[in-house]
Amino acid sequence: MLNSTPLIGEARTKLEEYLLTKGLRRSSERFAILEEVYSRNDHFDAEELYQAMKERSFAVSRATVYNTLEVLVDCGLVSRHQFGDEDNTKSRFEKSLGRQQHAHLICVNCHRVMEFCDPRLQLIKTTVGHTLQFHVESHSLVFYGECADEACVARTKAAAATINVN
Ligand SMILES: [Zn+2]
Ligand SMILES: [Zn+2]
Repeated sequence: MLNSTPLIGEARTKLEEYLLTKGLRRSSERFAILEEVYSRNDHFDAEELYQAMKERSFAVSRATVYNTLEVLVDCGLVSRHQFGDEDNTKSRFEKSLGRQQHAHLICVNCHRVMEFCDPRLQLIKTTVGHTLQFHVESHSLVFYGECADEACVARTKAAAATINVN
């Protein structure tokens, strides 16, 4: 994983400019949330972010967390994913500054998220766009399956045992 520390300065500047342009309040809460987001390397949902802020004893309301996430998505500092592996309506987020475009693998058992980059995706994008005369702006690719994580296997076995008992 890339160290996110040098990015936070750039992210702060970008957020500041965005809030100024939109005439939105440059509150310390928003920047604290941005910092929490950029300190993480995972794909989190809004509730997880809210809990993390609470654990840091940062007094911020759930509404502010949700609302700030929207702002961060709008200004391109965070990307939103709809992985559709559990609750289809639940969005998951990750920081996007300094990140390469990548695809995701989702474990259907433990909902672990993995990432991969493959230059062939870029090739497909270009070829298909050219063939169909379509300007591709972005894409989303998700592979669903089972991960090899030990904790995940244990969980699967436990679930199987429960089914057998019943
Ligand atoms: Zn798993
Ligand atoms: Zn990702």
